[in-house]
Amino acid sequence: MAEIQKERKYWDEHIETMPREELEKLQLERLKETVKFAYENSPYYKRSFDAAGLKPEDIHELSDLSKFPFIDKKTERETQGVGSFLGELCCVPEEEVIFISSSSGSTGVPTISPFTKEDFDEFQNTESRWFWQVGMRPKDRYIHALNFSLYVGGPDVIGAQNLGALCIWGGTLPSERLLFVLKTYQPTIIWTSPSYAWYLGETAKKHGIDPKKDLSIRTIIVAGEMGGSIDTTRKAIEDLWGAKVYDFYGLSDIYGACAAMCDAKDGLHIAEDQIYVETVDIHTGKIIPNGEVGELVYTTLRKKARPMIRFRTGDIGRIDQTKCSCGRTHGRIHILGRKDDMFIVSAVNVFPSDIEAVIRGIDGITGEYLVRIYEKDLTCKYNVEVEKNSDNPESDEDLAARVSAAIKARVGVKPAKVVIHPDGALNTRSEHKSKRIIDERSLSYNI
Ligand SMILES: [Zn+2]
Repeated sequence: MAEIQKERKYWDEHIETMPREELEKLQLERLKETVKFAYENSPYYKRSFDAAGLKPEDIHELSDLSKFPFIDKKTERETQGVGSFLGELCCVPEEEVIFISSSSGSTGVPTISPFTKEDFDEFQNTESRWFWQVGMRPKDRYIHALNFSLYVGGPDVIGAQNLGALCIWGGTLPSERLLFVLKTYQPTIIWTSPSYAWYLGETAKKHGIDPKKDLSIRTIIVAGEMGGSIDTTRKAIEDLWGAKVYDFYGLSDIYGACAAMCDAKDGLHIAEDQIYVETVDIHTGKIIPNGEVGELVYTTLRKKARPMIRFRTGDIGRIDQTKCSCGRTHGRIHILGRKDDMFIVSAVNVFPSDIEAVIRGIDGITGEYLVRIYEKDLTCKYNVEVEKNSDNPESDEDLAARVSAAIKARVGVKPAKVVIHPDGALNTRSEHKSKRIIDERSLSYNI
């Protein structure tokens, strides 16, 4: 672990500000090691590379990776438990594995993610990097309000401890208990989901607690939903709490957080010393030049227990590898949404996150919303439902027209209908991940 110094700007200056050329050299070296290690130790990778007529020695430069086959969630599910408990993607004997996390299984059989001691320590050192990046220092009190049960984001709290912060393992406490902890112990930094950060702030106010005056939270880390990267949503949470909000991004298949915002708040720096990023066409899988929008594909460069080589994430976004104003040289990812959440209306790709960005920026409505996707005459349509503020004198017709026009301007295609509800009528406020998209389509759509 790096020596803890109070005043330095970066957690690991050498790695974080490495010139691009040097960083790519390091990536190539690590990529060669990873591909060789996977080929020699995982029955699945050996079989898959052999079938493609490829050997680890075929990697001469980073772009050679594009010849190698993809893996995805399905690969994880199909190889899990095959041959051994940890399955055919695993490259080490079980006795070298010290930790496994498990995905939520919300989209199928839960997948497990194994770590060796070395993997785990490196994972936590990367988390320390992100915490330091958002301003956490040893004098901070940090409350980790994420699920600890099986969830890969649970152990991220160790990264904060290693940094020297005072850590409170909050987990998923009921809101009233959590508010008691916030009031009594006065932590300065919290990590939770964006919808819960909003819910908690509103709940505090209902209990006569002003999040800005009665609590000491000055930084909120959010992850697990798109909100932290939607400017209007982030701003709304910042205003509610009087705190800075930073978005983190993780994958149960890799790390609790693989990428994090810096003060520039222009995308999330991804740990390029740990992960090699490719962008591919969602239909053909062909490489798209860096900077353009496509599906993000990750290859881990250090993980030994289960290296992920060309893992299709299902996340649509782009990577910006220009140097950031914060001085870090690692690329920044901009996620538009999940491939599964995207829908197509009149040949326009619509992301629910874009709709949210509009809704959260409109005056006279609460910011709660529901998107209903359905078919009519074999065509995909969508309705948007919002809540009118109780003190808004505007007619429902005028408000609906205003919301519709704002969505059209950002998304490119207007909703078939905007439904106006009274304040509090939409049942979307939730302690957990909010369900805001209802897909009523019966046809299957290939995108
Ligand atoms: Zn930056």
